Amino acid sequence: MVKETARAKINLTLDILGVRADGYHEVSMIMQTIELADELELRKTSGGIILKQDATKILGGENLPLNEKNLAWRAAIEFQKFCGKDLGVEISLVKKIPVAAGLAGGSSDAAAVIRGMNRLYEMNLSEKELCKIGERVGSDVPFCIIGGTCLAEGRGEILTKLAPIKKFAVVLAKPEGEISTAWAYKTYDENPAKTHPPNKEIINLFECGEYDEAFKNFYNVMESVALKKIPVIADLKSKMFAAGAKVALMSGSGATVFALTDESTAKKISESVENTGAQIFITETF
Ligand code: ATP
Repeated sequence: MVKETARAKINLTLDILGVRADGYHEVSMIMQTIELADELELRKTSGGIILKQDATKILGGENLPLNEKNLAWRAAIEFQKFCGKDLGVEISLVKKIPVAAGLAGGSSDAAAVIRGMNRLYEMNLSEKELCKIGERVGSDVPFCIIGGTCLAEGRGEILTKLAPIKKFAVVLAKPEGEISTAWAYKTYDENPAKTHPPNKEIINLFECGEYDEAFKNFYNVMESVALKKIPVIADLKSKMFAAGAKVALMSGSGATVFALTDESTAKKISESVENTGAQIFITETF
């Protein structure tokens, strides 16, 4: 048996550079792994895939598929295909990351299955090979395999590892309502952003340790799209800033808003958004 921790991510920035010939969007985003995580256990079986899922701790968990539509299951299929063998696996998954929240919960489960099956069957596949398998499941899966702090380009699968950033406390507020990634991109295309995050500059500022200056430049081009459907995002951000957040920004295509702060201010920030109907988590950068 092997255990894997499937950590969530936040987008410190998210930029869309255009639509590609293959229909995917060309993105440029700075991604950061956080400690909030789903937990997995993988066991060998004589063949096939079994998925056991406990999603009782998260809102909307009852709607998660327990079949090949689950990204954990799809990852096991792709791992078997890559190896050309029926490497039987029983996956026990405990969900803690909110679903369809811009935190890559599903992609992270997929990444954990790929890493875990590699260990379980001692396949010794390289990180590059694991990412190739991950790409087939979803664009965010390679980042979830590698983790840490990365610049993600292409459709999200071209990764440049960055030096780890300083530890920050992270407050997450997941408002009611879900945003489908497909809807968000379609709506974005109808009215593309005029302001873009200066990703290269932010990376330089990180390298110089000038975090406060970097924070001023964090930007997510999808935020204005999500605001149309979930206006409370604006309220969450202003409350977090008022309570002392260094940054308050939406992650991914939404709708979770995160604040970065020091440990002593995290509680105050979480209390400031208590009466908004949002689900709140206090965690930290990985
Ligand atoms: P991203 O930030 O990568 O856009 P997200 O956080 O918005 O991801 P996920 O939580 O990964 O979204 O889920 C997106 C969709 O994937 C949901 O509609 C959900 O039903 C489906 N899904 C399939 N398997 C899983 C899983 N193991 N965990 C969460 N969602 C899953």
